[in-house]
Amino acid sequence: MLNKNVAPVYLDYAATTPVDPQVAEAMSGYLTVGGIFANPSSIHAAGRRSAAAVETAREQLAGLLNVSPHELIWTSGATESVNLGILGAARYRSDRGKHLITMPTEHKAVTDTFQALEREGFDVTYLMPDRNGLLALDEFEAAIRHDTQLVSVMHVNNETGVIQDIRRIGERCRERDILLHVDAAQSVGKLPTDLSVLPVDLLSLTAHKLYGPKGIGALYMADRPACHVLPLFHGGGQERRLRPGTLAVHQIVGLGAAAALAKSRQVEDLMHLQGLEARLWSGIGNIPGILRNGSETESFPGILSVSIEGIEGESLMLALEPLCVGSGSACNSRNRESSAVLRALGHDDALVQSAIRFSFGRGTTNDEIDLAIGCYADAIKHLRAISPQHARTA
Ligand SMILES: *Cc1c(COP(=O)(O)O)cnc(C)c1O
Repeated sequence: MLNKNVAPVYLDYAATTPVDPQVAEAMSGYLTVGGIFANPSSIHAAGRRSAAAVETAREQLAGLLNVSPHELIWTSGATESVNLGILGAARYRSDRGKHLITMPTEHKAVTDTFQALEREGFDVTYLMPDRNGLLALDEFEAAIRHDTQLVSVMHVNNETGVIQDIRRIGERCRERDILLHVDAAQSVGKLPTDLSVLPVDLLSLTAHKLYGPKGIGALYMADRPACHVLPLFHGGGQERRLRPGTLAVHQIVGLGAAAALAKSRQVEDLMHLQGLEARLWSGIGNIPGILRNGSETESFPGILSVSIEGIEGESLMLALEPLCVGSGSACNSRNRESSAVLRALGHDDALVQSAIRFSFGRGTTNDEIDLAIGCYADAIKHLRAISPQHARTA
């Protein structure tokens, strides 16, 4: 077993990433009296400098997504973007129809928002994925009705790394005048996301999964007549009155800087992740009873989720104390609610509870992966040695 006194190895980049030092440096110029701190809504010279910084950041983010800057709305993060995009668009176009389609494997931000719409009288179809976590396109087409107005499917799944075929889903939506919202919190800046060619109407993202600060995100809203949202908040005229409130200039600058950095490093970052994932899987993939969650082929290399037979989840998490990893109850590990994403793959409770999500990023080293391999392998060996079956025969 690893020495419990060593600093834990952080392998939870899917939960959040550290802020890149270059991003923190950029942000620090927008806070204090010597910096650009004025309210960007003020018309005086200092305010105009803040407003210019906000627009530069918008251009940086637009450059990453290949969209027009005016198609981006600043929010507090992906949860708010998802709420604004889905609630806002569904309510705006409710005369087009009240049927909506999504999947039970979406992030809570999405599924809870759809449940809120059900309480408002919308009718939601939750399409189960196949055993690899993917949306079956034929089932999707069969679920579309004349009154379907909005679909939401995520790009990269936060628990398994499964990548949905956004292009083909979007093409089917466009043919039928249905809007597509994509939760891209896990993929923006990591996988190529060219919205000038992808048929996506609304897309949610957040800075803190992208080496930017927490508490800032954006909603992309395509410049098409059918695509519009009703605001959730009311107040000033900021962000075309769709998201009023004083803009968080330092946070916005941080997201802009993170986007520019991600664009310049995308190929390098992705190759780094591919190397780490291959190393991790070659180190643990031969352990008897181990099972990779999600798709072998349609998978983002920054996330590797595994379940294991005959191991109790809670004991495993305790044994993995030197590692900061996600568990089978993933984002909800505090309330021990078992993962809907893993259950949707057809796993029984034990397999869901034994799931471990390793996620890594720019700062992860081969040495850390090797430590994780050793720690995981030792934990399994130890837990199998002390399991009741073994004790009885001993
Ligand atoms: C992290 C995450 C969110 C929530 O983002 P916040 O900025 O924390 O609100 C939503 N969807 C997915 C897929 C995520 O990974």
